[in-house]
Amino acid sequence: MRPKLVVGNWKLNTRRDEAQALAQALAAGWSGSAQVRLVVCPPAVHIPVVAAALEGSRVALGAQNLAEQPEGAFTGEIAGEMLADYGCGFVIVGHSERRALFGETNAVVASKMLRALDSGLTPIVCIGETLAEREAGQVEAVIGAQLDALVAAATAGLAGIVLAYEPIWAIGTGQTASPAQAQAVHAFIRGRLSAANPAWADVPVLYGGSVKADNAASLFAEQDIDGALVGGASLAADDFLAIGQQALQA
Ligand code: PEP
Repeated sequence: MRPKLVVGNWKLNTRRDEAQALAQALAAGWSGSAQVRLVVCPPAVHIPVVAAALEGSRVALGAQNLAEQPEGAFTGEIAGEMLADYGCGFVIVGHSERRALFGETNAVVASKMLRALDSGLTPIVCIGETLAEREAGQVEAVIGAQLDALVAAATAGLAGIVLAYEPIWAIGTGQTASPAQAQAVHAFIRGRLSAANPAWADVPVLYGGSVKADNAASLFAEQDIDGALVGGASLAADDFLAIGQQALQA
Protein backbone atom coordinates (compact mmCIF):
# COMPACT_ATOMS: atom_id res chain seq x y z
CA MET A 1 0.00 0.00 0.00
CA ARG A 2 1.28 3.47 -0.86
CA PRO A 3 1.76 5.74 2.19
CA LYS A 4 -0.53 8.77 2.41
CA LEU A 5 0.43 12.43 2.44
CA VAL A 6 -1.74 15.19 3.89
CA VAL A 7 -0.49 18.65 2.92
CA GLY A 8 -1.75 21.97 4.28
CA ASN A 9 -1.56 25.01 2.01
CA TRP A 10 -1.95 28.08 4.20
CA LYS A 11 -1.93 30.38 1.14
CA LEU A 12 -1.76 34.11 2.00
CA ASN A 13 -3.08 33.58 5.52
CA THR A 14 -1.73 33.82 9.09
CA ARG A 15 0.21 36.57 10.77
CA ARG A 16 3.47 35.57 12.45
CA ASP A 17 1.95 34.70 15.85
CA GLU A 18 -0.89 32.74 14.26
CA ALA A 19 1.53 30.75 12.10
CA GLN A 20 3.65 29.93 15.13
CA ALA A 21 0.65 28.88 17.23
CA LEU A 22 -0.79 26.75 14.42
CA ALA A 23 2.53 24.98 13.88
CA GLN A 24 2.95 24.41 17.63
CA ALA A 25 -0.53 22.90 17.87
CA LEU A 26 0.16 20.57 14.93
CA ALA A 27 3.52 19.53 16.35
CA ALA A 28 1.90 18.73 19.71
CA GLY A 29 -1.10 16.98 18.19
CA TRP A 30 0.53 14.71 15.63
CA SER A 31 2.43 11.70 16.85
CA GLY A 32 3.34 10.56 13.35
CA SER A 33 3.24 7.35 11.46
CA ALA A 34 5.15 5.72 8.63
CA GLN A 35 1.83 5.38 6.79
CA VAL A 36 0.81 9.05 6.86
CA ARG A 37 2.99 12.14 6.49
CA LEU A 38 1.66 15.53 7.48
CA VAL A 39 3.19 18.56 5.73
CA VAL A 40 2.47 22.26 6.17
CA CYS A 41 3.19 24.98 3.61
CA PRO A 42 3.07 28.39 5.32
CA PRO A 43 3.66 31.76 3.64
CA ALA A 44 7.39 31.93 2.82
CA VAL A 45 8.14 34.69 5.31
CA HIS A 46 6.94 32.48 8.18
CA ILE A 47 9.08 29.48 7.21
CA PRO A 48 11.79 30.06 9.87
CA VAL A 49 9.21 30.52 12.66
CA VAL A 50 7.25 27.46 11.57
CA ALA A 51 10.45 25.41 11.16
CA ALA A 52 11.40 26.23 14.76
CA ALA A 53 7.92 25.32 16.02
CA LEU A 54 8.00 21.98 14.17
CA GLU A 55 11.50 21.04 15.26
CA GLY A 56 11.59 17.55 16.77
CA SER A 57 8.03 16.84 15.60
CA ARG A 58 6.80 14.47 12.87
CA VAL A 59 5.22 17.30 10.88
CA ALA A 60 7.21 18.21 7.76
CA LEU A 61 7.65 21.63 6.20
CA GLY A 62 7.01 22.79 2.65
CA ALA A 63 6.72 26.00 0.66
CA GLN A 64 3.97 27.24 -1.63
CA ASN A 65 6.11 28.26 -4.60
CA LEU A 66 9.69 28.58 -5.79
CA ALA A 67 11.56 30.57 -8.41
CA GLU A 68 12.21 29.15 -11.85
CA GLN A 69 15.83 30.23 -11.46
CA PRO A 70 18.50 29.16 -8.94
CA GLU A 71 19.87 32.69 -8.31
CA GLY A 72 20.44 36.08 -9.85
CA ALA A 73 18.58 39.28 -10.69
CA PHE A 74 15.04 38.11 -10.00
CA THR A 75 13.66 40.57 -7.46
CA GLY A 76 11.22 39.11 -5.00
CA GLU A 77 11.81 35.49 -5.92
CA ILE A 78 12.92 32.66 -3.62
CA ALA A 79 15.11 29.82 -4.90
CA GLY A 80 14.54 26.17 -4.10
CA GLU A 81 17.96 25.92 -2.46
CA MET A 82 16.98 28.74 -0.08
CA LEU A 83 13.83 26.89 0.92
CA ALA A 84 15.88 23.75 1.53
CA ASP A 85 18.33 25.78 3.65
CA TYR A 86 15.43 26.71 5.93
CA GLY A 87 14.22 23.16 6.40
CA CYS A 88 11.66 22.70 3.62
CA GLY A 89 11.40 19.23 2.16
CA PHE A 90 8.45 19.93 -0.13
CA VAL A 91 7.20 22.69 -2.40
CA ILE A 92 3.84 23.16 -4.09
CA VAL A 93 4.30 23.80 -7.82
CA GLY A 94 1.74 25.09 -10.29
CA HIS A 95 -1.17 25.59 -7.92
CA SER A 96 -4.18 26.68 -9.99
CA GLU A 97 -4.05 30.11 -8.32
CA ARG A 98 -0.51 30.56 -9.62
CA ARG A 99 -1.53 29.31 -13.06
CA ALA A 100 -4.59 31.59 -13.23
CA LEU A 101 -3.39 34.69 -11.36
CA PHE A 102 0.34 34.69 -12.04
CA GLY A 103 0.45 33.33 -15.57
CA GLU A 104 2.20 30.03 -14.89
CA THR A 105 1.92 27.91 -18.01
CA ASN A 106 2.41 24.15 -18.27
CA ALA A 107 5.99 24.89 -19.42
CA VAL A 108 6.73 27.13 -16.41
CA VAL A 109 5.25 24.54 -14.06
CA ALA A 110 7.43 21.81 -15.60
CA SER A 111 10.50 23.99 -15.29
CA LYS A 112 9.73 24.77 -11.61
CA MET A 113 9.23 21.06 -10.98
CA LEU A 114 12.76 20.41 -12.29
CA ARG A 115 14.15 23.26 -10.15
CA ALA A 116 12.52 21.76 -7.08
CA LEU A 117 14.06 18.36 -7.80
CA ASP A 118 17.47 19.96 -8.42
CA SER A 119 17.17 21.75 -5.07
CA GLY A 120 16.49 18.53 -3.20
CA LEU A 121 12.81 19.36 -2.65
CA THR A 122 9.84 17.12 -3.42
CA PRO A 123 7.58 19.03 -5.80
CA ILE A 124 3.85 18.68 -5.22
CA VAL A 125 2.70 19.46 -8.74
CA CYS A 126 -0.92 20.59 -9.11
CA ILE A 127 -3.06 19.74 -12.09
CA GLY A 128 -6.78 20.12 -12.64
CA GLU A 129 -9.55 21.33 -14.92
CA THR A 130 -11.96 24.26 -14.77
CA LEU A 131 -15.71 23.76 -14.52
CA ALA A 132 -16.14 24.86 -18.15
CA GLU A 133 -13.59 22.26 -19.25
CA ARG A 134 -15.35 19.55 -17.23
CA GLU A 135 -18.73 20.50 -18.67
CA ALA A 136 -17.27 20.41 -22.17
CA GLY A 137 -16.04 16.84 -21.58
CA GLN A 138 -12.39 17.91 -21.70
CA VAL A 139 -11.14 16.61 -18.35
CA GLU A 140 -8.85 13.95 -19.77
CA ALA A 141 -7.58 16.23 -22.55
CA VAL A 142 -6.68 18.99 -20.07
CA ILE A 143 -5.12 16.70 -17.47
CA GLY A 144 -3.37 14.73 -20.22
CA ALA A 145 -1.75 17.90 -21.61
CA GLN A 146 -0.68 18.98 -18.12
CA LEU A 147 0.90 15.56 -17.54
CA ASP A 148 2.53 15.47 -20.97
CA ALA A 149 4.32 18.75 -20.23
CA LEU A 150 5.76 17.21 -17.06
CA VAL A 151 6.76 13.99 -18.81
CA ALA A 152 8.42 15.88 -21.69
CA ALA A 153 10.46 18.03 -19.32
CA ALA A 154 11.50 15.32 -16.89
CA THR A 155 14.48 13.74 -18.61
CA ALA A 156 15.49 12.12 -15.31
CA GLY A 157 11.95 10.87 -14.72
CA LEU A 158 9.04 11.64 -12.44
CA ALA A 159 9.75 9.14 -9.69
CA GLY A 160 10.55 11.85 -7.10
CA ILE A 161 7.44 13.95 -7.51
CA VAL A 162 4.00 14.09 -5.92
CA LEU A 163 0.96 15.06 -8.00
CA ALA A 164 -2.12 16.82 -6.68
CA TYR A 165 -5.31 16.55 -8.70
CA GLU A 166 -7.25 19.69 -7.86
CA PRO A 167 -10.39 20.34 -9.90
CA ILE A 168 -10.43 24.13 -9.96
CA TRP A 169 -14.18 24.27 -9.43
CA ALA A 170 -13.72 22.47 -6.09
CA ILE A 171 -11.02 24.73 -4.62
CA GLY A 172 -12.27 26.98 -1.84
CA THR A 173 -15.87 26.55 -3.00
CA GLY A 174 -17.09 23.93 -0.54
CA GLN A 175 -18.00 21.86 -3.60
CA THR A 176 -15.89 18.68 -3.31
CA ALA A 177 -15.56 16.27 -6.21
CA SER A 178 -17.42 13.09 -5.29
CA PRO A 179 -15.13 10.21 -4.39
CA ALA A 180 -16.13 8.52 -7.65
CA GLN A 181 -15.41 11.64 -9.73
CA ALA A 182 -12.04 12.05 -8.07
CA GLN A 183 -11.16 8.35 -8.34
CA ALA A 184 -11.96 8.34 -12.07
CA VAL A 185 -9.45 11.13 -12.71
CA HIS A 186 -6.85 9.63 -10.35
CA ALA A 187 -7.11 6.32 -12.21
CA PHE A 188 -6.68 8.16 -15.51
CA ILE A 189 -3.57 9.93 -14.15
CA ARG A 190 -2.06 6.70 -12.84
CA GLY A 191 -2.78 4.92 -16.11
CA ARG A 192 -1.21 7.70 -18.17
CA LEU A 193 1.91 7.76 -15.99
CA SER A 194 2.33 3.99 -15.95
CA ALA A 195 1.93 3.88 -19.73
CA ALA A 196 4.70 6.47 -20.06
CA ASN A 197 6.94 4.52 -17.67
CA PRO A 198 5.94 1.57 -15.46
CA ALA A 199 8.30 2.92 -12.77
CA TRP A 200 5.93 5.88 -12.30
CA ALA A 201 2.94 3.77 -11.35
CA ASP A 202 3.51 4.60 -7.69
CA VAL A 203 3.84 8.37 -8.00
CA PRO A 204 1.58 9.61 -5.16
CA VAL A 205 -1.54 11.40 -6.42
CA LEU A 206 -3.25 13.62 -3.83
CA TYR A 207 -6.74 15.04 -4.15
CA GLY A 208 -7.40 18.72 -3.41
CA GLY A 209 -10.60 20.74 -3.40
CA SER A 210 -12.64 21.49 -0.26
CA VAL A 211 -11.31 18.49 1.67
CA LYS A 212 -12.64 18.59 5.24
CA ALA A 213 -12.64 16.23 8.20
CA ASP A 214 -16.14 15.05 7.26
CA ASN A 215 -15.43 14.13 3.63
CA ALA A 216 -11.79 13.02 3.84
CA ALA A 217 -12.51 9.40 4.80
CA SER A 218 -14.64 8.69 1.73
CA LEU A 219 -11.99 10.21 -0.55
CA PHE A 220 -9.15 8.30 1.14
CA ALA A 221 -11.07 5.05 0.71
CA GLU A 222 -10.62 5.28 -3.08
CA GLN A 223 -7.77 3.14 -4.31
CA ASP A 224 -5.90 5.77 -6.32
CA ILE A 225 -6.22 8.66 -3.84
CA ASP A 226 -2.99 8.88 -1.87
CA GLY A 227 -3.85 11.77 0.42
CA ALA A 228 -4.96 15.37 0.23
CA LEU A 229 -3.85 18.90 -0.47
CA VAL A 230 -5.90 20.98 1.93
CA GLY A 231 -6.46 24.75 1.86
CA GLY A 232 -9.11 26.21 4.16
CA ALA A 233 -9.28 23.28 6.58
CA SER A 234 -5.52 23.39 7.15
CA LEU A 235 -5.84 26.72 8.97
CA ALA A 236 -7.41 25.17 12.08
CA ALA A 237 -5.18 22.66 13.85
CA ASP A 238 -8.06 20.42 14.98
CA ASP A 239 -9.53 20.22 11.49
CA PHE A 240 -6.21 19.47 9.84
CA LEU A 241 -5.28 16.88 12.48
CA ALA A 242 -8.68 15.25 12.01
CA ILE A 243 -7.98 14.89 8.28
CA GLY A 244 -4.61 13.33 9.18
CA GLN A 245 -6.44 10.90 11.47
CA GLN A 246 -8.82 9.95 8.64
CA ALA A 247 -5.76 9.14 6.51
CA LEU A 248 -4.39 6.95 9.32
CA GLN A 249 -7.63 5.00 9.46
CA ALA A 250 -7.97 4.60 5.68
C1 PEP B 1 -5.97 24.37 -2.18
O1 PEP B 1 -5.63 25.46 -1.78
O2 PEP B 1 -5.19 23.72 -2.88
C2 PEP B 1 -7.29 23.86 -1.81
C3 PEP B 1 -7.61 22.66 -2.20
O3 PEP B 1 -8.08 24.67 -1.05
P1 PEP B 1 -9.45 24.25 -0.29
O4 PEP B 1 -9.13 23.02 0.50
O5 PEP B 1 -9.77 25.42 0.56
O6 PEP B 1 -10.46 23.99 -1.35
